[in-house]
Amino acid sequence: MDEADRSQAFADREAERILADARSRNAAAALSGGVRPALRVCVDCDDPIDARRLAAAPAAIRCTHCQGCAEQHDTRRRSGVIWP
Ligand SMILES: [Zn+2]
Repeated sequence: MDEADRSQAFADREAERILADARSRNAAAALSGGVRPALRVCVDCDDPIDARRLAAAPAAIRCTHCQGCAEQHDTRRRSGVIWP
């Protein structure tokens, strides 16, 4: 193997490394930001959950309206009133 072969082999490895690095970056980006919060929908009514609500409560699974209903439901159930 002469000097030209060695530098070619080095360039190939370097190109492969850069490609692999870019691929892993893309995968990480897809995992962390692939699902936009604005696309989350309420588990009760399937309406999109308000982005401001998600910003305030990232774990929210209901829209503001249904969350209010659910909390009222809980309160009534605790106090013995049958719902709906
Ligand atoms: Zn809802």
